[in-house]
Amino acid sequence: MNTNALNNICYGLFVLTAADGTKQNGCIINTVTQVTSAPVKIAITVNKSNYTTDLILKTGVFNVSVIDESADFSLFKSFGFSSGRDTDKFSDFKDFKVAENGINYICKNTNAYLSAKVVDKIDVGTHYMFIAEVTDAQVLSDVPSASYSYYHNNIKPKPKQPEQSEKTRWVCVICGYVYEGDELPDDYICPICKHPASDFRKM
Ligand code: FE
Repeated sequence: MNTNALNNICYGLFVLTAADGTKQNGCIINTVTQVTSAPVKIAITVNKSNYTTDLILKTGVFNVSVIDESADFSLFKSFGFSSGRDTDKFSDFKDFKVAENGINYICKNTNAYLSAKVVDKIDVGTHYMFIAEVTDAQVLSDVPSASYSYYHNNIKPKPKQPEQSEKTRWVCVICGYVYEGDELPDDYICPICKHPASDFRKM
C-alpha cells in the first residue's frame, strides 16, 4: 500500500467556528463535504481534542468559513496552531462578523460561509464526524477557494534556500520555520506555530 495516494485527495480549507455564550472559538479544518441537497446537509470531521469540538458537542451549532486564495499565513496562525482552551483566538482578530446563529464567521480572505445545526454524530476514533443541516449560507466573494495543495504551494512558508553556512538547519514540519544551530534544544518551541522540538526535522 502506498499511503502517498491519500495526499492526492483534493481538500479545501475552512475556519470552523463555534461559541458557548460569549466565548467564541475557531480552528482550521480541511474536511467539509456536502452530503445531501434536500435538505442541504454537510459533513465535517474535526479532532476530538479541539476546543471547537467541545463547543459543538455542547451547542450543536457551528459555522464554516471557506478560505480563499487571497489568504496568507496569518489566518492560519490565528486559528491553526494553538488551542482556544489557552487563548482567546478572537482577541486580536478583527476580520469577523456575527452570523444569524450568534457564531462568528470570518469575513476576510474567505469566499463563503455556512451555518449549520448538527443532526448526527459519528465517532471515528481520533475525530468526530458531524452531519449537520445547513441553516444559512452566504457567498462573500468570487475569489477561488484555497485547496490544501494551494496552501502548501503558495501560503505555507517555505524553508529558505540554504546559504553558505556550516550550521545545521532544522525545519518545522508544521509551518516550515527553519532553526539554525548545531543542536536543537529539547525544549525548543517554534516561534511561528508554537509546536515543540519533536515536530522539527534535520535538513
Ligand atoms: Fe512551526
